[in-house]
Amino acid sequence: MVISEKTVAMGKQSVKDIAATDLNAKRVLVRVDFNVPMEAGVITDDVRIRAALPTIRYLIEKNSIVILCSHFGRPKGQVKDEFRLQPIAKRLQELLGQPVSMLEDCIGQDVETAVHAAKPKSVLLLENLRFYKEEEDNNEVFARKLAALADVYVNDAFGTAHRAHASTEGVAHFLPAYAGLLIEKELAFLGQAIHQPQRPFVCIIGGAKVSTKMSVLKNLLGKVDTLIIGGGMAYTFFKAQGLQIGKSLCEDNFIEAANLFLNLAKSSKTKVMFPVDCVVADAFDQDAHTRLVTIDQIPSDWQALDCGPETIALIKAEIAGARTVLWNGPLGVFEMDRFATGTNEVAKALAHSQAVTIVGGGDSAAAIEKAGLVDKITHVSTGGGASLEFLEGQELPGIAVLKDKTPTPV
Ligand code: AMP
Repeated sequence: MVISEKTVAMGKQSVKDIAATDLNAKRVLVRVDFNVPMEAGVITDDVRIRAALPTIRYLIEKNSIVILCSHFGRPKGQVKDEFRLQPIAKRLQELLGQPVSMLEDCIGQDVETAVHAAKPKSVLLLENLRFYKEEEDNNEVFARKLAALADVYVNDAFGTAHRAHASTEGVAHFLPAYAGLLIEKELAFLGQAIHQPQRPFVCIIGGAKVSTKMSVLKNLLGKVDTLIIGGGMAYTFFKAQGLQIGKSLCEDNFIEAANLFLNLAKSSKTKVMFPVDCVVADAFDQDAHTRLVTIDQIPSDWQALDCGPETIALIKAEIAGARTVLWNGPLGVFEMDRFATGTNEVAKALAHSQAVTIVGGGDSAAAIEKAGLVDKITHVSTGGGASLEFLEGQELPGIAVLKDKTPTPV
């Protein structure tokens, strides 16, 4: 189901809550997430740049001076040419249809001179924040230098909102701080799903590692009506229950945690479901021999790399009866076509569903994109780690620090 973000509420003030006079001819520092995939200086996917356009355009329309800042890659506090933002400035310029001034640094006298000379409606891009070690250290002096460039701060980098860095958290202590339109949208959809979902609320969690998702699973118990645990991480739970899983993925040091979770699940009102059948292979290889077996029939030398048709049918039935579906993590090794059926079928079922559908996490978002189904999903989250931490019930430091919405008097 596709719905407008206007129909869902949030608790933080956004750029739209800033009075026009506080934006008119004012310098606005916008933290964006331009950490795009790049090969030999060529951007291979500009989705993150496009995701920042609504906020940038809104500020241009309000006659602001837009000062963009972002990290890119892991230069580890050193200036490295391969991590310069010039190719990103070029792409942004094409997308915006207006010039973007690429500055040679992100702080310092030259940057201050350039931002003070800039005219309303102009767009400037500061150089990679991570050329300074102080960025990731959330160094106060560095954050104050960033803050000195502007009158207002806007965070629109959902993908890094779970990190307390100088440009995502520190700077917000020294300027009036608001959410950008992308963060507003992310909070609206993820927040609504977790706190006020339309029920039945079905959550599908897949992927490789139980270790990274155990807190999410625990937080979802009691909140969702059905929790489907799939992908490679399901096999740690099967082993915990005494099943033979052959060479399937397993985190042995999480078996105890898996058992504890299964016990918690028994007393919870959430229905917890696992795959009932799977595609096993005799090697982790696209050309491996494969077989379809039930979960209790995995041969000792084989590994489960996708869920089977019965499991897919069960998941589809849950999706068909749901009014909210949240999906994070692939249901098989979707990078190899032969083991992508479970993931692709779930993607299609979500696209055809009348429910509010939310997809989070890089891999599931990539599967949706690859299948050309993005427009059929209510919300595809741009933040993998951030959306997971949000679902864990954690407060994201880059969001906690933004201005709260004033409660409506009753
Ligand atoms: P995560 O980063 O934990 O969300 O895991 C994503 C990865 O899980 C993808 O690269 C998938 O190939 C992998 N994955 C999903 N199902 C399986 C499986 N049954 N066996 C091995 N890897 C899997």
